[in-house]
Amino acid sequence: MSIAGSSRPASGGEHKFSHALDRLAPGKALHGESCGIGTIISMYLHGGDWRSIRSSLKTIGAPTTPADLGIPDTTAVEALMMAKTIRPERFTIFDMGLTRDSAENLVSMLYKD
Ligand SMILES: [Zn+2]
Repeated sequence: MSIAGSSRPASGGEHKFSHALDRLAPGKALHGESCGIGTIISMYLHGGDWRSIRSSLKTIGAPTTPADLGIPDTTAVEALMMAKTIRPERFTIFDMGLTRDSAENLVSMLYKD
């Protein structure tokens, strides 16, 4: 953010997901934990190597699912739907037509091999 001279680098989909989760499940996740899960989801949508990110997070003992955080999957789905309403002028992958069905599939995907 210092290099960019703005907070835009911290307004990616992973951060919007994190902020939405903070509102829906206050105090359940550390910022880095929810951003980590948001990063897995965002990378999946970008078509990148999301499994490698998930594997790295598992290696350091970081949560990779809503269950790991003690948060219901339905709340994570709500957070994905809410994410695009936070700072909507800052475009993210969640503005590319994310539907409730796709949000449910994304959360399910976190649990699969
Ligand atoms: Zn952050």
